[in-house]
Amino acid sequence: MNASPGLADILDARRRIAPIALRTPLLRAEALSRRSGQDVFLKLETMQPTGAFKIRGAANALMRLSPERRHRGVVCASTGNHGRAVAFVAGRLGMRATVCLSALVPEAKAAAIAALGATVRRIGRSQDEAMAEVARAVAAEGRIEVPPFDDPSVIAGQGTIGFELAEDLPELEAIIVPLSGGGLAGGIALAAKALRPGIRVIGVSMEHGAAMRESLAAGRPVEVEEQPSLADSLGGGIGRDNRWTFDLCRRLLDDAVLVSEAEIYRAIAHLLLEERLVAEGAAAVSAAALLAGKVQLRGPTALILSGCNLDRHQLARIASGASVRIGDREVRG
Ligand SMILES: *Cc1c(COP(=O)(O)O)cnc(C)c1O
Repeated sequence: MNASPGLADILDARRRIAPIALRTPLLRAEALSRRSGQDVFLKLETMQPTGAFKIRGAANALMRLSPERRHRGVVCASTGNHGRAVAFVAGRLGMRATVCLSALVPEAKAAAIAALGATVRRIGRSQDEAMAEVARAVAAEGRIEVPPFDDPSVIAGQGTIGFELAEDLPELEAIIVPLSGGGLAGGIALAAKALRPGIRVIGVSMEHGAAMRESLAAGRPVEVEEQPSLADSLGGGIGRDNRWTFDLCRRLLDDAVLVSEAEIYRAIAHLLLEERLVAEGAAAVSAAALLAGKVQLRGPTALILSGCNLDRHQLARIASGASVRIGDREVRG
């Protein structure tokens, strides 16, 4: 696929990935609905076999490869969940996978990827350095790159979520989506707006290193300094030569808002203690934006609970109200 994806590609993806990715449930969040005075629903991508939605894009990208390309094996850079998805799907399809991770990726995520049979390469201190290793593996070893977001097949795969939402709840007024590279938000907006033109799609990023939000404000892809965050899966830039997701987000997102580390902490705790759901920081940003009053709800709203791969020490500390160490800061709710 070498054109910007459309609804037909998302429909194809839906059929293609059905044997591997789950069609996830949409549940009403009682406490969030009570607090906000609107019906709030959670799309439980946390239930995917890899604990995050990225299995959708990875399955679509890998299953579209020709037998010759499958034989060459795949390589990717990842903040954790994309690598886990690529490793899982490659394992299911009998392909070799190499996953390049920077030092910012938590050890638990690296271990989970290795356990799926992929080769893990620890490279550098930023997502950009991990990306450079991918380019090397493509040039020197003939591997096929599976980008984490800026790829039409990946975007179409993530877009299947938007299709399911429009199907399950036709009266949805807004979708609040965690935003990093924009494959998730762009894909969902593409599907949801094609099916329900009036629907609002709002992206949420962490305050530190919000590459897409800064790029949208600047009107072109810009680089930001990557910093440690509770939302570690939202780290990394959008790429200076971004081809697809910047344009999609610019055209289709109604707003992009930022949340602080303390707001993310409180949202993880809220989801855990009030809704009884485990969400990692990147997934909790949508609930954080809602709880902090940073988005105004006008009707039934869906939050994308994008993943549950939270470090277990962080999980234990947040559950008990203890502070967590993020870089050189102590964060609490
Ligand atoms: C990757 C990821 C995101 C952001 O997706 P993008 O397509 O990069 O915007 C959000 N939440 C989780 C859990 C992720 O792994």
